Amino acid sequence: MNTNLRLPSPYTPAALSALVGKFGSPLFVIDCDVIRRQYRALAEALPGVDLHYALKPLPDRTVVKVLAREGSWFDLATNGEVDLVRKAGIPPERCIHTHPIKRDADIRHTLDYGVTTFVVDNPDEVDKFVAYRDRVQLLLRLSFRSPEAVVDLSRKFGCDTDAALELARRAARARIRVAGLSFHVGSQVARPDMYVQAIETCAGLIAEGRRGLGPFEILDIGGGFPIDYLEPVAPIAEFCAPIRAALARLPEKIRVIAEPGRFICGPAAIGLATVMGRAKRDGRWWYYLDDGLYGTFSGQLYDHSRFPVEPVLPHGGERQHCVVAGPTCDSIDVVSEDIMLPELEIGDLVVARQIGAYTIATATDFNFFPRARVLAVNVARGG
Ligand SMILES: *Cc1c(COP(=O)(O)O)cnc(C)c1O
Repeated sequence: MNTNLRLPSPYTPAALSALVGKFGSPLFVIDCDVIRRQYRALAEALPGVDLHYALKPLPDRTVVKVLAREGSWFDLATNGEVDLVRKAGIPPERCIHTHPIKRDADIRHTLDYGVTTFVVDNPDEVDKFVAYRDRVQLLLRLSFRSPEAVVDLSRKFGCDTDAALELARRAARARIRVAGLSFHVGSQVARPDMYVQAIETCAGLIAEGRRGLGPFEILDIGGGFPIDYLEPVAPIAEFCAPIRAALARLPEKIRVIAEPGRFICGPAAIGLATVMGRAKRDGRWWYYLDDGLYGTFSGQLYDHSRFPVEPVLPHGGERQHCVVAGPTCDSIDVVSEDIMLPELEIGDLVVARQIGAYTIATATDFNFFPRARVLAVNVARGG
């Protein structure tokens, strides 16, 4: 929900309590000022790179509109994402479709909106575009394994360099335009080395491909840019410095694009949940929240993230080892097995930070505990 609410950050405890008083608990609050701040920080760290927000980690219409006003482009992967940007009034020229595996109906749905750039990583997928060859251009997705990334996205998708050239030949034979290359080194990447290596490998492939296989004028360096969770990471300008240097060594006339998701939306949301009950078990307090692993904290399962959790209004008292659990009857639904918190009471509010990416997007209403209500604040620029 878009509230027209201005909520200067850092939020005060009183402001957070008032939000829950008005909109209920659990709540998922997106701060559009932070969306803008993150977009601008990455744009500054990667000058000349067209940032395509990947909708997957937080497919939210307000976020899309706020980013559009910043000049963002968009990375779509499914029909639902196509429909979302379409309803938000985003021109299709600002979007690319990057799912390497698509049904014909998905391709048609995307073409019907007007998006014409698609990603392929295997021969069958190239063949799916023969019928649309006069309306599409392809990016070939390379795989570069990042065993250190929290989420390795080159295991499931992407091909090696030899296979990429083979795909380019196949596309050329079918008279389908090969616009360039793409890769995704993984999500929440620890170090920039893999981007540098991938950019260098792609430079070689681009040179080869340009000898008759297609224009090879786009290089898509994917997403993966990391944010602070419990462990801080390098500031984004520093993280991107070697990537900037590698991009500067590319031949002229290459349009470089990126597909950031987590970096833009991760820090922009907080989760607010309420203590529903508590029990002392084996000498430790267990606190049961109205949101948990099947809800906003689902990122802890699917995305392997851990979110900082704090009481909104600490009563004081010493911090002690305790357990924070979600509301469902399932024993796996534990947010933290061991966290130091002051003693909490029933009705107390708890805030989780850095919880914008891969969280509400993967939440369920298992056991009929409804997903957190989504609020966007600071939607208008400035103030
Ligand atoms: C998930 C995904 C992204 C976003 O990755 P982040 O690590 O969140 O930046 C970008 N591109 C593709 C193809 C993806 O699947």
